[in-house]
Amino acid sequence: MKLRAIHSCSCAACQSGEPKTQLHHSELNLLMSRLDERQRRWLAAVEANRIGRGGTEHLRTITGLDINTIRRGRQELASAFASNPSGRIREIGGGRKRLEKK
Ligand SMILES: [Zn+2]
Repeated sequence: MKLRAIHSCSCAACQSGEPKTQLHHSELNLLMSRLDERQRRWLAAVEANRIGRGGTEHLRTITGLDINTIRRGRQELASAFASNPSGRIREIGGGRKRLEKK
């Protein structure tokens, strides 16, 4: 597995030392470093949508992701991941064991 360096945000709020924003952006980048490529762009998309106008550009500054990557994530999110059907996460038979019937 390729290790991804944790991106350090260079947004204006982090530069000026706003503690809540710094924490949010550093946690976001920490989380990003543990996600795969798809998950990273979807998380960036959710955050960009939360910001609204200018969100894509802002997320580029925060995460260092390519602007087109974030745009793609927003499109995928808007289509409810139509082109990315969810696979089974748990193995068949995984999870808690059924209670025995008495
Ligand atoms: Zn920041």
